[in-house]
Amino acid sequence: MAEQGGTEQSNDISTPLDWTTFANTIDGKQVQTARSRHSINPANGESGPDVPMSTPEDVENAMTAAQKGFNVWSNVPWDQRKKAVLAFANGIRQEKDNFVKMLTREQGKPLAFARMELDMAASFTQTVANLVLSEERYQAGDADTMVRYTPLGVCVGIVPWNFPILLACGKLAPALLTGNSIIIKPSPFTPAGGLKLVELAQRYFPSGVVQSLSGDDSLGPLLTSHPVPAKISFTGSTFTGKRVMESASKTLKRVTLELGGNDPAVVLDDIDINAVAPKIAQLAFLNSGQICLALKRIFVQESIFDEFRDALVKATKELRLGPGTDEGVFLGPVQNSMQYERVKGFFSDIEKEKWNVAIGGKIPEGKGYFITPTIIDRPKEDSRIVVEEPFGPIVPLLTFSNDEEAIQKANDTQYGLGASVWSSNIARANEIARKLHAGSVWVNTHFELDARVPFGGHKESGIGVEFGIGGLKSYCNSQTLYLKKP
Ligand code: NAD
Repeated sequence: MAEQGGTEQSNDISTPLDWTTFANTIDGKQVQTARSRHSINPANGESGPDVPMSTPEDVENAMTAAQKGFNVWSNVPWDQRKKAVLAFANGIRQEKDNFVKMLTREQGKPLAFARMELDMAASFTQTVANLVLSEERYQAGDADTMVRYTPLGVCVGIVPWNFPILLACGKLAPALLTGNSIIIKPSPFTPAGGLKLVELAQRYFPSGVVQSLSGDDSLGPLLTSHPVPAKISFTGSTFTGKRVMESASKTLKRVTLELGGNDPAVVLDDIDINAVAPKIAQLAFLNSGQICLALKRIFVQESIFDEFRDALVKATKELRLGPGTDEGVFLGPVQNSMQYERVKGFFSDIEKEKWNVAIGGKIPEGKGYFITPTIIDRPKEDSRIVVEEPFGPIVPLLTFSNDEEAIQKANDTQYGLGASVWSSNIARANEIARKLHAGSVWVNTHFELDARVPFGGHKESGIGVEFGIGGLKSYCNSQTLYLKKP
């Protein structure tokens, strides 16, 4: 274990990271805390590695170092910052196998999907590094007006447990490219990977520029209420997002909030049922339904309802449930006990509400937070399973008669993160897509993201965007220069 007060580390990029100890990174040093905590492997209940329980003093130390880091980093030219972010992306690739093992161990997702998350984390970091945020220039006579984008200062990135590495990179890359310093707070349920990611970053960025603080849920409010940060980038539930915004408002910190979703799929009567049903099943149950963008309401046109339901059930039967370390598993366990209990609440509604279960409906006995993928056939549209975000492997199958009704039902939610329309008729699908109230709308696919374009939610799914030029601007102040010839 590193001693109290912090240890220097090897910043040689060819030296593999040490995956036996996990510490906060403060001012370029690995810092342990007097108290520690650990996560739980959701597949078997085993304890994860010890991680720090940050104190208010650790927060103060990180804030002071972050201000110092910002003063250095904000003066480094864009091209050099870009090179550092690109090198960091390569560093992630070099350590991929270790990150993957830890991700499956502490998050629960199958190894194949953990690999996918790491690939996306590296490629999104690289894509963001290659974005260009140009100054705008407007000339008129002897006056030259320019709009430039300057870094905000110290930023805080608060990360959830469902994609802990990818979502941390989604905050690190744009914050660093635009010249900010950033403190990452990983989720208490998946702390180890996030801590290692920030430790890895020390090889590419000066001290104090990228830091991490781990702790329990009492740590977040210490960061959001602290006077130093200029911005909080938060990904998590809508409930917590509102508390973050309230706390950040005290010093008018900028916020980007990436929050919950209740994504609809609108399945039209002209689809190839056998081709579409397996895709819909996978998009509902990927990551055991624990994706902000998982399909959470599946609307199927009445005339094909029965045939589509049967094809969906058949496809769902093929999705294997088990520990993420087993070959061929599609659904790992639900990530943590709190989430497991929450999802089980929907299962207890099955009897109470007399829902028809198309497949699943039972929770397997035994170790680990395993839940069989479950489809509820046409529950009432005001029932909890339709209105709320279960964030687990249970999804309602609903119906509509015509395009107008599909649009009205799909939009009938407080959320507006993603949505998709499935049809062989692209013109018809596009027309519906444009009327859906969601930040990302897909036709004949879902959850296919591109870091060159903005991602964010409408309504209570969030404020602001990550990725794309809009995402870069969200880490900047806009400054207008009015230059006039003497
Ligand atoms: P959560 O809101 O419980 O926690 C998210 C993070 O906030 C964690 O790091 C947690 O420790 C921290 N936190 C908790 N209380 C806090 C407070 N008062 N102040 C500051 N930080 C605090 O969310 P979760 O359960 O980790 O993640 C699941 C939720 O995240 C789902 O609703 C899902 O839809 C959403 N999500 C959204 C996106 C998106 O991009 N829109 C992506 C992934 C997940």
